[in-house]
Amino acid sequence: MAGRGGIRGSQVGAGPMGENERGELAPRTVVSFWCGNGHEVRIGFALGADHPDVWDCPKCGLVAGRDRDNLPVPAGTAPYMTHLGYLRQRRSQEEGDILLEEALAKLRGSI
Ligand SMILES: [Zn+2]
Repeated sequence: MAGRGGIRGSQVGAGPMGENERGELAPRTVVSFWCGNGHEVRIGFALGADHPDVWDCPKCGLVAGRDRDNLPVPAGTAPYMTHLGYLRQRRSQEEGDILLEEALAKLRGSI
């Protein structure tokens, strides 16, 4: 990132001078993200800059979120949806109650 665009005109790996410039950045705020494995990822952002809601955990690669109690579900590892889960997508709760009643009635032998 440093030196991109040739504004400074210094060589890549300029050494101490580059280090100093990095130390003089605008005030930063540290934002914590938590991944599903409980890793805390602390990322420094420029104060007032927008920061993302999620960050890839550098330790395990899971998506880490800002809200420790409401972690994002990483794409591709969505919880396995049960047969009942698919059913609930297709049926309303009311229909489900009727189906359940029918099933129970069959079990009781009253149909
Ligand atoms: Zn992690």
